Amino acid sequence: MTESTRKRLENVEGIIDLTLPVRKHWRWGFHRTYERDYTFGHPLREEYLYMPVHCFTHIDPPAHATEGEKTIDQVPLSDLIGYARIVDLSHKEQNAEITDADLDEKGGHVAKGDIVVVKTCQGLRYSVDQQEFWTTSPYMAESSGKWLVEKGVRAVAFDFPQDYVLRDFFKGIIPSLDDMTMHKALLKAGIIQIEYITNLHLVDANSVLFFAIPLRLEGVAGSPARVFAVENASSLILNRIR
Ligand SMILES: [Zn+2]
Repeated sequence: MTESTRKRLENVEGIIDLTLPVRKHWRWGFHRTYERDYTFGHPLREEYLYMPVHCFTHIDPPAHATEGEKTIDQVPLSDLIGYARIVDLSHKEQNAEITDADLDEKGGHVAKGDIVVVKTCQGLRYSVDQQEFWTTSPYMAESSGKWLVEKGVRAVAFDFPQDYVLRDFFKGIIPSLDDMTMHKALLKAGIIQIEYITNLHLVDANSVLFFAIPLRLEGVAGSPARVFAVENASSLILNRIR
């Protein structure tokens, strides 16, 4: 498939899907059973899924790190929908640290209350199925967390494993919250994390209408999400109501 065909398919009417498909993956447990199915006499197919809520593209509410804080159903949709500022750091090398100086340089358009999307296009270097996606990724320095908290942003989305220590999870090494730089800085400040979005190479603008839609799971500290951007919202709406 050529890049332009791919772009056309993934950018239908200016809607760009930023979501990883949910399926079997070596990093995340995922199990699917067919409880009822037309292949064995039931009129309808119904699958059961067993999977962690923190897998593939998903949302971390503050309760992920702190007892008593907001769970996913308590996060207002207004924190997850709106114009997002894209901070394009796709020039950063593998294993590079992303510091407050990088955010100063590329995030001058970020203001208080914004949704921020940190773009590295790590998914173009390696697929999420390859260990190298995890072990060679750029990562956020402690100073970046401070920068985002001081800006007063409301949510931050990443297309790469944002904390350096996330690369060790699949080796069975569980770090402390202190070592999970972004998880600690953002969630403790009440800022929502949106993890493992993809396809940001298809987004050219530095501001985009952005939607991150979790399931309304009562009392749960995370949810898989459908995340997408709309590049030209007014023409999309006009096409729909015609
Ligand atoms: Zn998570």
